Amino acid sequence: MPRYVGAVDQGTTSTRFMVFDRQGREIARHQIEHTQILPQAGWVEHDPLEIASRVDEAIAGALWRGQLTGADLAAIGVTNQRETTVVWNPKTGRPWYNAIVWQDTRSERIVQALEPRRDLLRSRTGLPPATYFSASKLQWILENVDGVRAAAERGEAVFGTIDTWVIWNLTGGKDGGVHVTDVTNASRTLLMDLRTCRWDDELLALFNVPRAMLPEIRPSSAGVPYGLTRAGGAVAAEVPVCGALGDQQAATVGQVCLSPGEAKNTYGTGNFMLLNTGRDIVPSKAGLLTTPCYSRDENDTAYALEGSIAVTGSAVQWLRDQIGIIRTAADIEPLAASVPDNGGVYFVPAFSGLFAPYWRSDARGVIVGLSRFNTSAHLARATLEAICFQTRAVLDAMTEDSGVRLDVLKVDGGATVNDTLMQLQADVLGVPVVRPVVAETTALGAAYFAGLAVGFWDGFDDLRRNWQADRQWEPGWSEDQRQSAYGAWQRAVERSLGWIAT
Ligand code: ADP
Repeated sequence: MPRYVGAVDQGTTSTRFMVFDRQGREIARHQIEHTQILPQAGWVEHDPLEIASRVDEAIAGALWRGQLTGADLAAIGVTNQRETTVVWNPKTGRPWYNAIVWQDTRSERIVQALEPRRDLLRSRTGLPPATYFSASKLQWILENVDGVRAAAERGEAVFGTIDTWVIWNLTGGKDGGVHVTDVTNASRTLLMDLRTCRWDDELLALFNVPRAMLPEIRPSSAGVPYGLTRAGGAVAAEVPVCGALGDQQAATVGQVCLSPGEAKNTYGTGNFMLLNTGRDIVPSKAGLLTTPCYSRDENDTAYALEGSIAVTGSAVQWLRDQIGIIRTAADIEPLAASVPDNGGVYFVPAFSGLFAPYWRSDARGVIVGLSRFNTSAHLARATLEAICFQTRAVLDAMTEDSGVRLDVLKVDGGATVNDTLMQLQADVLGVPVVRPVVAETTALGAAYFAGLAVGFWDGFDDLRRNWQADRQWEPGWSEDQRQSAYGAWQRAVERSLGWIAT
């Protein structure tokens, strides 16, 4: 058996390929950003062909850096930005339209019309109607891109989330690529029945989506691989592609939250907290999503409660790219730490409306509490605090829905390198925060599920043994301080609501 397992992590802002050994240690990586296409307010697109070539470059780059070949890899897993929607012609490999990214809100009208079906969607899919999920994006393409609907009938237009697009390309593209998705990705379309883990005819009719466009739904760890990479492709060998998980589910696996009651919080473009609820499908009353956590075969799916926050790390990017008060994302930390507190400033970065637990698409960003005294340092600090307060709202909802009180919050993702942010998070929650040695839990989780499928790891205990804490932060604020700061935040959230007429 080869010594390593590889994982493609196709994220919202960049694509990584990572190689891990049996202990879950990183052997090699290569990462490349891709273009964010922002044609008008509320629209966010990616070029699928650019993504496919970034995947190839990331693979070739990581193998080169590690002085490896494809023959060193026992298996490859795929993890991805979820919900982002691609429609392409499988005969030519050409996309019909740019990928419509999960943050994109152009399908607002379609979603408004679904309001009377809210209960059906909630109970069948675990999700509320929202522009976030794939189905309304797919419907928008079917209605607005000339020729797609007719092409779908001829088999010349198929749908996929990014896992599907990446796996199709890795396994041969127009020359025999497989058209599959995993349960966790399929569940985010609004087209899958949460209980049966199959496409649902009533939902397909609701969104007017032809069934022939859809990929086959497979387990997240596939004993029979989805397909093999090609000798002529970036891997330059036939390696089984046999693990796939949406990025947040992958991070949950990478954090070895493999038993009911275990949770993680990932800090990337957005923030995503997932609590494993085992075989229980827990409906949410508090504004969370009910979602599959992973499946290892058709009849064995573990579920999760999820709190999704649209804008956290991307507010840091906004300070960098649009406001220009920092030059790199890392610069936010010394700037925020240069003042002892937020100087009364609260920033609600509701750029795409508010996701969990509010689900208010009529919200937009607000900065409140300004006085002549405030500086860019206060805004930087308010941005970090916004990440922490939004997480508090989600954690409260999690406790309300599940009754589980976390002793400690396991964290990961790009923004967790920021120690000031982590300390603030512990302060705001009143719960300790712990970061593992391998912060790349998303790629690691996809590698774990691919490796399990080929027997590289025997079972979950092998994975649990690999998890190691790097650093833990203890809450510092008094209870009074915590309550009054959170109260002010909640008032700021009120100000952000109802800004867009719906
Ligand atoms: P994704 O997988 O969603 O693309 P990553 O896990 O790579 O995201 O994290 C990138 C995000 O983290 C970016 O939005 C960036 O602004 C943010 N980020 C990176 N470094 C820092 C930092 N030192 N402090 C705060 N945020 C940061």
